[in-house]
Amino acid sequence: MVKKRKILIPQPRSRFLKVICKVCGAENVVFSHATFPVRCKVCGTVLVKPTGGKAYILRDRAEIVAELG
Ligand SMILES: [Zn+2]
Repeated sequence: MVKKRKILIPQPRSRFLKVICKVCGAENVVFSHATFPVRCKVCGTVLVKPTGGKAYILRDRAEIVAELG
């Protein structure tokens, strides 16, 4: 008998992003689905804005240098 198993594991397309703050050059790790504004840990500049589901990287302030996981 064929075992049919439905695996219902939600797979959110979320990941952590390593971004560089363009204001001070500090590296920050941010969640791609952040639900709150993410600020640079060094200078406090808002780098990521939440937009109902997916976080929006403010490209004029932050540059993505790596995707983690
Ligand atoms: Zn900064």
